[in-house]
Amino acid sequence: MVIKQEEYKDFSWVLHQKAGHKPIVVQMELTLRCPLHCQHCYAEIYPPKEAIKHELSTKQIKMIMDKCKAAGTVWFCFTGGDPLLRKDFIELYLYAKELGFITSVFTSLATLTPKILEAFKKSPPFDIETTLNAATSKTYKEVTQTNLFEKQVGAIRALLKNNIPVRVKTQVTKQNVGEIDKIKELVESWGLKFRPSTMIHARLNGDTHPCAIRLDPKDAIRINKNYGYFEEEESRQPREKLEVKDLIGKPNSNKLVGCAAGGHAFWVTVDGEMVICSTLRQPVYDLLKKGHTVEEGFYTLNKKVHSMCFKTQSRCRDCKYRRICKWCPARAYLETGSVEKSVDYYCLLAEETVKEYVKK
Ligand code: SF4
Ligand code: SF4
Repeated sequence: MVIKQEEYKDFSWVLHQKAGHKPIVVQMELTLRCPLHCQHCYAEIYPPKEAIKHELSTKQIKMIMDKCKAAGTVWFCFTGGDPLLRKDFIELYLYAKELGFITSVFTSLATLTPKILEAFKKSPPFDIETTLNAATSKTYKEVTQTNLFEKQVGAIRALLKNNIPVRVKTQVTKQNVGEIDKIKELVESWGLKFRPSTMIHARLNGDTHPCAIRLDPKDAIRINKNYGYFEEEESRQPREKLEVKDLIGKPNSNKLVGCAAGGHAFWVTVDGEMVICSTLRQPVYDLLKKGHTVEEGFYTLNKKVHSMCFKTQSRCRDCKYRRICKWCPARAYLETGSVEKSVDYYCLLAEETVKEYVKK
């Protein structure tokens, strides 16, 4: 049954309200391997042969899925790396469907095989999300270090032809900003919404290579303003409808985590550890351990994460821009090795946000 977008939004909203503070949404990393090698990617931290050693077995993944089901999880998203690279992807996907999850798949789509397409046709996912960062093979090669442009674009077309819902996101960097209008045109030619994001942070192992291709803060603000924020990016961004000026002022809380992380959602890492967000990799709760449950992990982690407070005289502690800033302890940790340290790029971004949105 195909549900209309508006009806789905209502359904999702009501369910989130009714659920309250429960673990109803999960994203699970099946692998950190990916056929693309983008400089901005935060997850490419192992060479492929080593990455495979960190992956769970089919049985372990199914056990975690069972634990999610037992906790009342409704939305299950396969993510990575690229989950389609796993040999058992179809088996895991069909298991998620069997358990009755609303199932999404985040993939490069350069890995879509005829067999996987057949599985999606027979039992469609709720949606598939892919990141397309170029409109030409030349830029695609520069961004991904591969020649898989036609493969990815062909896969998007094949899914759409078979009425399988696809969402495309675009990571805008110095490498592809010159092509942004062409990418928008291509995405919209498929009847899809153009969803650019300008947010980039360091890799999970602290490698700051991705940060080198961030847009200049002025350009990032311009792109966000002219092309729209990627809405799911996070819940506390100053969107047009919010008055930035009302969010400026000394923070009234000493808490480190100021976002809605852990409200309804959680993340399972490639090693089977539960965390509260994809970027904040500590504290963890081991979901593989016998007797450990999703519910216990969710509330334990939430308690720990939301009681983390500033202990040092970090510039961010009393910063009047903290509520409009893209700084957060997770991003700070990856970039500086400290959950409290300020990040110059975010300071500049905050200043530009104020210049752009607060009228003199
Ligand atoms: S902790 Fe940081 S990265 Fe994680 S959801 Fe919150 S703002 Fe986003
Ligand atoms: S990163 Fe800079 S602007 Fe952002 S909260 Fe910290 S000191 Fe303030």
